[in-house]
Amino acid sequence: VRLYSQLPLSVPVTLPNGTTYEQPTGLFIDGEFVPSRQHKTFEVINPSTEEEILHVYEAREDDVDIAVAAAKKAFDNGWSTADPVFRSQCLYKLAELIENNAETLAGIESLDNGKSLFCSRADVALVSKYLKSCAGWSDKIFGRVIDTGSDHFSYTKREPLGVCGQIIPWNFPLLMWSWKVGPALATGNTVVLKPAEATPLSALFASKLVQKAGIPKGVVNIVPGFGKIVGERLCTHPDIKKVAFTGSTATGRHIMKTAADTVKKVTLELGGKSPNIVFADADLDKAVKNIAFGIFFNSGEVCCAGSRVYVQDTVYEEVLQKFKEYTESLKVGNPFDEGVFQGAQTSQMQIDKILDYVNVGTQEGARVVTGGERDGDKGYFVKPTIFADVKEDMRIVKEEIFGPIVTVSKFSTVDEVISMANDSEYGLAAGIHTKDVNKAVDVSNRIKAGTVWVNTYNDFHQSVPFGGFGQSGIGREMGAEALDNYTQTKAVRMSIDKVEY
Ligand code: NAD
Repeated sequence: VRLYSQLPLSVPVTLPNGTTYEQPTGLFIDGEFVPSRQHKTFEVINPSTEEEILHVYEAREDDVDIAVAAAKKAFDNGWSTADPVFRSQCLYKLAELIENNAETLAGIESLDNGKSLFCSRADVALVSKYLKSCAGWSDKIFGRVIDTGSDHFSYTKREPLGVCGQIIPWNFPLLMWSWKVGPALATGNTVVLKPAEATPLSALFASKLVQKAGIPKGVVNIVPGFGKIVGERLCTHPDIKKVAFTGSTATGRHIMKTAADTVKKVTLELGGKSPNIVFADADLDKAVKNIAFGIFFNSGEVCCAGSRVYVQDTVYEEVLQKFKEYTESLKVGNPFDEGVFQGAQTSQMQIDKILDYVNVGTQEGARVVTGGERDGDKGYFVKPTIFADVKEDMRIVKEEIFGPIVTVSKFSTVDEVISMANDSEYGLAAGIHTKDVNKAVDVSNRIKAGTVWVNTYNDFHQSVPFGGFGQSGIGREMGAEALDNYTQTKAVRMSIDKVEY
């Protein structure tokens, strides 16, 4: 953090592929980019080069208070009671603007997060689809008429909550922005969103599109800053009615406690240690691609990463060999090089944590099949890593690593693998690979997870809800379920007099 009072509100940034764009650096409050009140800024690092990209203004508590006041005014002055078709048009326009700026946004995401363009493009495509889906929901938020006899008329309405505080992580900066902003706006709420301090750029660029989409002032406010300052204020501010958070389970627990003082509604999308099971009857080549995609997609920085692979004993050696070969064929490196699958980890902190777990695994007696080290000496690159000969009580099997590190365990029976898969405090996702539909359904029923993928993995769709069992979270994102988290039910019960004619 440094005082950088002369920081312009927009600076040209040239992406490694040669494109230059204008990057906003200010907070986005009440429809305008503004400096922070205290004129503090913080640096944003390019994880592929470890060099500074630029500085952005850093919000503090006083900035949050101004943003919340703007969001409250926008909520009270029309957004919450607007014609839902207007909200729908705003969201659809925003989705179209995302599409028109897709390559720039993908570039920003790869620059700021370090993920490959392959991954960034997938993110941006889902962002625009999801915003369109939210646009479609705006005028389909229905209550119910409840038959309570002829002397009363009883019905329910679903009303917005008010100002929502939203705190997002650095692994999918723009995608998480859309998962938070989309359903909140569709249902008539206004938002104050804090991007992760490591990756504030895409949410700021998207704010320009929020302006262009004609979304009224104050409906969306973006306050880049640190968790302990901006995040805490969002969780304690009395005018914030709901906190939506994605990030670590430890921070999620803390947020839930902090938000309890003002009894805010809380939704949490937290960590995971998801099992990915390969049965002997699976199409093994396809399964190997899926387990690789399950763990190495987005450099392994995925809350639902299939980080515990379980392979049936009769095909264990064959799958391990194929998995090793396929993993070694994946291209790691400069996220802007076409053909690169895995880019850089997002931060120094993250690569340190990952490499520390490699040491932990080795010390615990697990065997490195491939990878297990940094890739190159500049940039936060890690070789995709497979551990075999693991025991279920090892830390590398139990704890979320959040990087391209996977353990491969052996099992013999369905009952055995289900008990291994379910032996976790988490319950975000699971994968099953089999050609037997009966087994697929039976195992899906018995796995404790919010999402089960069969013969696929990390396979998201804007209409399919996503969220966790157990300590992986509370609430669901995407699909119809996401709207439930942004509405509250009002019951209206009228007494009807008998009419004498
Ligand atoms: P984090 O959970 O601390 O950060 C996520 C967001 O929460 C950021 O915007 C951060 O500023 C904010 N935050 C931090 N402290 C806060 C507080 N006291 N009050 C309110 N907001 C706060 O995660 P991290 O420290 O960046 O990463 C640590 C680990 O968390 C990772 O290694 C990974 O295991 C996990 N993680 C999980 C996800 C996920 O999608 N489930 C995302 C990011 C990180």
